[in-house]
Amino acid sequence: MSTEKEIFITQPDMPPLEDFIPYLQQIWDSRVLTNGGTFHHQLERALCDYLGVEHISLFTNGTLALVTALQTLRITGEVITTPYSFVATAHSLLWNGIKPVFVDIDPRTLNMDPARIEAAITPQTTAIMPVHCYGHPCDVEAIQKIADNYNLRVIYDAAHAFGVRREGLSLLGHGDLSVLSFHATKVFNTFEGGAIVSPDAKTKLRVDRLKNFGFVDETTVVAPGINGKMSEINAAFGLLQLKQVDQAMAQRREQDERYRHLLGAVKGVHCVEGSGESTANYSYFPILIGDGHPESRDTVFQRLRDNKIYARRYFFPLISDFPMYRGLSSADPANLPVAGDIARRVICLPIYPGLTAEQQQRIVGLVGAA
Ligand SMILES: *Cc1c(COP(=O)(O)O)cnc(C)c1O
Repeated sequence: MSTEKEIFITQPDMPPLEDFIPYLQQIWDSRVLTNGGTFHHQLERALCDYLGVEHISLFTNGTLALVTALQTLRITGEVITTPYSFVATAHSLLWNGIKPVFVDIDPRTLNMDPARIEAAITPQTTAIMPVHCYGHPCDVEAIQKIADNYNLRVIYDAAHAFGVRREGLSLLGHGDLSVLSFHATKVFNTFEGGAIVSPDAKTKLRVDRLKNFGFVDETTVVAPGINGKMSEINAAFGLLQLKQVDQAMAQRREQDERYRHLLGAVKGVHCVEGSGESTANYSYFPILIGDGHPESRDTVFQRLRDNKIYARRYFFPLISDFPMYRGLSSADPANLPVAGDIARRVICLPIYPGLTAEQQQRIVGLVGAA
């Protein structure tokens, strides 16, 4: 057992505490704690500028934002989605009484394989919910083409895709809505938080009503909305965090390059690639343990653990293997061979500002065969 200190898959990038005190002072002075205060408003504006989008609505967390995105577009029936994601993607469908229909992923991008979508469409299908896995863009054009042909809506789970651009534009502009998560483990965090990116002011207004119980004014409620509002404390932290997010991503980029360089010498390890024409946010560092490696993924994973390196098997198990999903016909492993194979081989290595070159070397040393 190593005496080194524990290394987790990620650590939030914390600004100096004293920098947060003036924000807290302002909240205490104003006594506006939530319901769209100054910081909430400022963070929405700042994120629109930073991300290059026009309409954003802040949420308590990404999961409630996903649930609300589906309600915003009145999605019902069946929705085509990926089994290779965090479980909240499919849970948001169940919370709306929608049946998830899983399709397999592309072995290169690990995103939903557009070539498999059409075969999964039935008369009940109303939408597609893809995930930009690890922040790597989905094939947005192919997905939109299918959606247009079959009159389906597209809601992107963009929880990993903060700040990602494609062909010079925000990735978040694709589809009908995009949903972000600002959870503590994400590249940009507000402790807990999330957002919906809307294409126009009218849609944003509906989102904003749905996240506030459906209120239109003091006495009018137009929908069974939820309480999904972000508080002033979370919004203030987001404003502070936003100031250092570019620097954090630059550090992650260096770490990404170093891992690729070091792992180039390790047999049987494949580093998952982003797609060439997009910018990356380096939010995760997924590797696949392949046939060329003399050990199984779980042997490697356990050795990391034994050395207090808490890498994660994102995403294992597949969502479709959890008990509330595995009875669906689309959850049959025979329908999802690529996702099943990747889930058995993947490990996400630690990546976060502050992880040192020496720590990365030690991690890579442990990934190689013992
Ligand atoms: C983090 C995450 C979510 C959930 O976001 P929360 O803010 O934790 O509720 C949803 N989907 C994916 C792909 C995620 O990684």
